[in-house]
Amino acid sequence: MLVIHNPDHARHAGRQEMFRGRLVPCHEVPARLDHVLAELQRRRFGRLEAAAPDAGLDALLARIHAPRYLRFLERAWDDWVALDPANAALDALPSVWPVRGFRADVEPDNFAARLGLYSFDAGTPLMAGSWRAARSGALTAAQAARAVASGKESSAFALTRPPGHHAGADFFGGYCFLNNAALAAQALREGGAARVAVLDVDYHHGNGTQSIFYERADVLTISIHGDPRTEYPFYLGHADERGAGAGEGCNLNLPLPRGTGFERWLEALDAAITAVRAFRADALVVPLGLDTFEGDPISGFRLKSAAYLRVGARLASLALPTVFCFEGGYAVAEVGVNAVNVLEGFESA
Ligand SMILES: [Zn+2]
Repeated sequence: MLVIHNPDHARHAGRQEMFRGRLVPCHEVPARLDHVLAELQRRRFGRLEAAAPDAGLDALLARIHAPRYLRFLERAWDDWVALDPANAALDALPSVWPVRGFRADVEPDNFAARLGLYSFDAGTPLMAGSWRAARSGALTAAQAARAVASGKESSAFALTRPPGHHAGADFFGGYCFLNNAALAAQALREGGAARVAVLDVDYHHGNGTQSIFYERADVLTISIHGDPRTEYPFYLGHADERGAGAGEGCNLNLPLPRGTGFERWLEALDAAITAVRAFRADALVVPLGLDTFEGDPISGFRLKSAAYLRVGARLASLALPTVFCFEGGYAVAEVGVNAVNVLEGFESA
């Protein structure tokens, strides 16, 4: 399997995130990716390539993200420091948001207000290297998708962070800035796949991906995740969200209660696979979160490491050109083993 990795990921290394009234150390750390890379090398799995500059990236980004949001992200760090030179020693975290009844169409001059306009939580610190890391991450996903779309590769893994599936067309949050899986799906579409399925197996609902494709009939979005009544990101991910307009019927949410074990989770995966078949997808994108692991510090399912081999094998049963995008997974020491188990299970099936 081709593995494209993000050479700039460590430029994004948040110090603190807001959690229930206090600043706590970030869960989404560079070591996560390093552990996956080390495990790939230890097993001699996959052909590793670093993402390289690509002139087509900006056009692809503009198909998924709003121009004013991309402009905001690109300049965010400079604007944060311009607000107060002392900010250079701090990560940027939002503290004010436009909820119902406020206007989102007017972009405020005040940077703190823009930070809130383009985000939905205070858990996603932004720093000097965040844009570069996220942009190279988008490149990673695009290149993995193009290698698969061209037919040169039957599958590829975009090994990148920060993750992407919580990022919407014009907002960041949940540790995500640019939606790598959505970009991969779009790249597959533009590479010739008429219908693409995105099957998100991260513990958390893929709210960004759902919202990006909600009214499109050419991309089926499916997410298996902790029930949003109790689990982050809380405000989206219910079973009655089925898509809208042309996309009616093209979104499937499979929420499961906190504490769910592998056998019940696997039933949900089989339901998802049935839906991908019924959609007659030409290609598959898997936002690969490993925070369904029993040892994950911020999640609540109970999958064991060996289960991930079976997850990979089940995904392979679809026999589709497939792009995996690295998402969550915060049991840092185990995330490499769990991620590579999925890939190995997929390739051995
Ligand atoms: Zn997650």
